[in-house]
Amino acid sequence: MSENILVVNSGSSSIKYQLLDMGEETLLAKGSVEKIGQPCSKITHKSADKEVTKQIGAGDHFAAFEAVLEAFKEFGPDLDKVGLKAIGNRVVQGAGIFPGPALIDKEVLKKIWELSVLAPLHNGPEARGIEIMQRLFPQTPQVAVFDTSFFFHLPQEARTYALKKEVAERYGIYRYGAHGISHEFVGAKARLMEAKEGEDFRQIVLHLGNGSSCSAQVNAKAVETSMGLTPLEGLVMGTRTGDIDPASVTYLLKNSPYTPEGIEELYNKESGIKGLCGESDMRKVKRLYDAGSKDALLAVRVFCHRIVSYIGAYWAQMGGLDALTFTAGIGENQPFIRSLVAGRLAPFGVKLNEESNLEGSGDRLISSPASSVKVLVIHTDEGLSIARQTRDLLSASSL
Ligand code: ADP
Repeated sequence: MSENILVVNSGSSSIKYQLLDMGEETLLAKGSVEKIGQPCSKITHKSADKEVTKQIGAGDHFAAFEAVLEAFKEFGPDLDKVGLKAIGNRVVQGAGIFPGPALIDKEVLKKIWELSVLAPLHNGPEARGIEIMQRLFPQTPQVAVFDTSFFFHLPQEARTYALKKEVAERYGIYRYGAHGISHEFVGAKARLMEAKEGEDFRQIVLHLGNGSSCSAQVNAKAVETSMGLTPLEGLVMGTRTGDIDPASVTYLLKNSPYTPEGIEELYNKESGIKGLCGESDMRKVKRLYDAGSKDALLAVRVFCHRIVSYIGAYWAQMGGLDALTFTAGIGENQPFIRSLVAGRLAPFGVKLNEESNLEGSGDRLISSPASSVKVLVIHTDEGLSIARQTRDLLSASSL
């Protein structure tokens, strides 16, 4: 029987997918459809040694998913021939409802739709993707893997906002976190690499990508995280503000032409690093920074300043720190950010091995033996984690 799992990450204007053979945990193909709804929309599909990009003009998500299936037929592997054991879907918001992955049925799908009020940019497109795949693969089981589940059991004092109790309860306003699939995967790997038998392993994972977040973990269990009710809270991100005084929202509503929707757009898409220096992609920001742009310099300083504040807070909350782990696009590929962050922690004994930081590759320790805290770089593989959770849930329910 086929052990192949198709992992789907359906966004508002894009779809990312991966096909994994979970017998061997090997990647058979991956790809993405971008700019859905626009005439210039295109698909990129990579299988075996080939990578192809095609204009498809997908007018909606259904057309985009059909293009994905055609790409599998045309460029391989043909899904009709190799078979699919299951489809694993990334879902951002599971709130206080989903402590782990869920086999999708009518009730689960309804709840994912309902939770889109807490993740308007994510849950709606994800639920739509699930519905389309149900039409295209009516016999194939589908699983939802939630980005919040890893944080479901946060200690109450970390999960609770100091908001009037009745309001928090009535509207479900708690810290649910996000990026949990990555934090869990990376935290577990770092623990395997560095934890000492019989001792608590206190770790901070920094997931620094377009979206950025950090988590505090004791023995690979989450005890704190920077994202909150929604993925807007916490670190400075590519285009999101992260932490900002909530009074700024009512201030703008009362004193500017911004509407609630306009503020959502402003805080989520026009702020963060992009809002400060005009670019959100750290590769471009680094070029501006190297060229001496004052705006880029400030953007990088604000980005690192916030990271260091969270490290200090979590270090104190855990009563110590054994490892600091960098992951995701920036965390894995931008040594200058790692240097700047670690440099601020030098008074606490953190010391990098700059050769390993600058020139090493892959999962590795980048701190010097004299460092008070181990500093690691670990590649996050959310697709593999979703496929594993999908496989494990199906075996547990013996489907
Ligand atoms: P997402 O949150 O969309 O998954 P990523 O984890 O891919 O984002 O991170 C995107 C960020 O990582 C961008 O700022 C980009 O500049 C940076 N990045 C990604 N890959 C590289 C690379 N190879 N070299 C330098 N920076 C990179």
